[in-house]
Amino acid sequence: MASKLPQVGTTIFTVMSRRARELDALNLGQGFPDYDIDPRLTELVAAAMTAGHNQYAPMEGLLALRERIAAKLLAVYGLSVDPESEITITLGATEAIFSAVQAVIGAGDEAIAFDPAYDSYEPAVRLAGGRCVRLPLAQPGFRYDWERTRAALTERTRLVLFNSPHNPACTTATGADLDALAQLIHARDIVVLSDEVYEHVVFDGGRHISVLTHPGLAPRSFAVFSFGKTLHATGVRVGYCVAPPALTRELRKVHQFNTFSIAHPLQHAIAAYLAERPDCGRELAGFFQAKRDRLRRALSGSGFHLPPAQGTYFQLLDFSALAASDDADFAERLLTEARVATIPLAPFYASPQALPFVRLCIAKRDSTLDEAAVRLNAFAARLRKA
Ligand code: GLN
Repeated sequence: MASKLPQVGTTIFTVMSRRARELDALNLGQGFPDYDIDPRLTELVAAAMTAGHNQYAPMEGLLALRERIAAKLLAVYGLSVDPESEITITLGATEAIFSAVQAVIGAGDEAIAFDPAYDSYEPAVRLAGGRCVRLPLAQPGFRYDWERTRAALTERTRLVLFNSPHNPACTTATGADLDALAQLIHARDIVVLSDEVYEHVVFDGGRHISVLTHPGLAPRSFAVFSFGKTLHATGVRVGYCVAPPALTRELRKVHQFNTFSIAHPLQHAIAAYLAERPDCGRELAGFFQAKRDRLRRALSGSGFHLPPAQGTYFQLLDFSALAASDDADFAERLLTEARVATIPLAPFYASPQALPFVRLCIAKRDSTLDEAAVRLNAFAARLRKA
């Protein structure tokens, strides 16, 4: 059978997690916490099943949960969003991205994505029959080049895939970036799919700027969020998409035939949890910033350079002062020689870039981060001697 995705293998996240298990390495690759979730959430999931919420949830999501999300959007961003017509519960952010892409992209249509682009974007576009135009963010610092983006637009461009805080670059978009994006799509038949799953993980007093708060973007955007990140429970696989009613209607046409509806007891549990702890997102920035700073301090004399991390679960490690290898080779050496699994950036680029970065996940117990730093420091010392 001819493959519809001939270039696609198994995701780098899955491969690295599997190899970390096989080699008994510390896994700072795939982005997931290794510490316990709030036991109250566990209780509420059990309570929801005991209460009998075990049959299909409503296709668009449990209304009580969508109302909690609307309350959060009001509290955090000052937005009035209609839970009935503008919020859809999805199977993690990944389903929201996939379903939104299928809703927008048809045969021959084009979508713009910025490299390093999260690995699910292009396959979603291709499966819809579209073409993904990949534009690298500019070095240093992974910045947008809006003139280049403008030059890449064609009559067939239907979608821009946007992501802030950015995984894996660990940067946040500025208000000027959003203005430029709005300017670009203004007067064109283009919508924005904005991946905002790290909305609460912005460091150093910075503020996440959602496309939903931008007057030029909100009427033309799908914004995608994830409870996996907010509740430290990536296995829960509950996310949501916020979009104006016309876009939401099209999203739901796909969603209902993709996943149909999302785990009902989990939706009840999350709604109850948010009722008890409506501010749970607010503590994430401080929580993860402390972890970022702990890891940065522990690696400060290593010879690795740690570029600024403005947000997300991650910190990039620049190995250019210690080794001349490419990032995939260096990640392999870190895995087999230092016993630390990381994620190279090469899989997030359409064309090879030779950037000296691997990505480390900071959403780990302090003891895991400390042990990773011990191993990385020892490996760096060996490289310095070699
Ligand atoms: N979002 C996770 C990361 O960036 C990966 C999720 C996955 O494995 N699909 O590490």
